[in-house]
Amino acid sequence: MKPALLREVILPAWQYVKRQNSLKLLPYLEQTQWLSTGELLDLQRRRIGELLEHAYEHVPYYSDVMRAIGVDPASGTRDHSLERLPLLDRSTITEQRDRLRATNFPPERFVANGTGGSTGEPLRFFDDRQQAGWSAAAVWRSQRWYGVDVGERCAYLWGANFDITDFQGLSGRLKSGVLNVLMLPAWELSEATAALFWKRLCHFKPRLLVAYAGALNQWARLLGDNRDPIPGLSSIVVSAEMLYEEARTTIERCFKVPVYNRYGGRDIKFVAQECTMRNGLHINSENVLVEIVKDGRPVPRGELGEIVITRLDNFAMPFVRYRSGDLGIMGNSLCKCGRSLPLLEKIEGRVQDAIVTFDGRIISGPFFAHMFKDCPEVKEFQVHQMAIDRLLIVIVLYSQSEFLSRPRIERLVQQYMGSDMRVELEVRDSIPLTRSGKRRVIVSHLSANSQNQQANCFAR
Ligand SMILES: [Zn+2]
Repeated sequence: MKPALLREVILPAWQYVKRQNSLKLLPYLEQTQWLSTGELLDLQRRRIGELLEHAYEHVPYYSDVMRAIGVDPASGTRDHSLERLPLLDRSTITEQRDRLRATNFPPERFVANGTGGSTGEPLRFFDDRQQAGWSAAAVWRSQRWYGVDVGERCAYLWGANFDITDFQGLSGRLKSGVLNVLMLPAWELSEATAALFWKRLCHFKPRLLVAYAGALNQWARLLGDNRDPIPGLSSIVVSAEMLYEEARTTIERCFKVPVYNRYGGRDIKFVAQECTMRNGLHINSENVLVEIVKDGRPVPRGELGEIVITRLDNFAMPFVRYRSGDLGIMGNSLCKCGRSLPLLEKIEGRVQDAIVTFDGRIISGPFFAHMFKDCPEVKEFQVHQMAIDRLLIVIVLYSQSEFLSRPRIERLVQQYMGSDMRVELEVRDSIPLTRSGKRRVIVSHLSANSQNQQANCFAR
């Protein structure tokens, strides 16, 4: 399908029938990204106010919470209402699921959604059909930063079951032909399929490839860096997993196009993405408020804390100050590209994908990535925290190489985690992916109780 035909005829007709509005919102978001910081903040405050007034009036859980702490978002204290509200965690959502639903909307406005349990507790929630266009429009806007327009060919190396099954079978193939989408299942990636997937990509000629960072890194390693560029491919967006700088380099060497980082998830939707300057990830602040929180309070810019999300486009089941479980740092400055969308400077992985030391420090994935980047014989690694004082590091070596870095790794771990930490290093043939095709750098086997304590360091 010609992209212009898809963009100007098919998609508008489709959106009209399905009552979707992302194409209509796109020109609005194209303008708001160039507003001044003050204007953008005003816009965001207005939307936060609308969400909180709605929650106060129509969402039983929030009516009770706000009344109990004396917050009325319609009164003069509206601007500060949000920061007085408690953080929202997964267990509260599960317990209060029905009371978090707005009482003034018809059932068809609620779209059931959920996240799997591969990297945390499973969560079931509802999206807001009427507002779903915001996130999709923001995705289009950010892809246009790299010159990839709506309707252009896009390939996905992706895992989650029902994203993929939409594109399987005859109707799925038809849909992917019409929508210019190619889905490559991340969990089927192996030495045997790497070259086959590459061929399919060359044949499809996507403008953009969207992928899990870990799976794409693994693919790039299997392919090596002696291949010609994929015809037509202009850029790669990675999401759903941590992007380490070493991985970015490996992927760029293999695919020969720039790699950009995207932050989002099924529960938090699309939050932020890098522009071509790669100064950090621009937050879609028209649709989402991001706070960085430690010990229950927002931390100053430049400091690490848990990323807390308030989506401004879900009135059906509002998540206000939702604990994402991810660690991040808010940037200090504006981006040179001229967009005033604020910058999320860094994402440091999941709270539970971090090692906690005996003295209460949290050590996240980049520490290990940094340590292993100077071990040329190590192909893959995974760190398991078996107990508060015991780490098991599993290592896969390149064929015919010897694990010469063993003493160095042992020394570094002891140096940074304390002499109380016992380290075992185990060489294996492979490291399995999680069910959804993601690769985890750190796996914590601490009990749920001690994991909660760990998470609470960030959001007490
Ligand atoms: Zn920028």
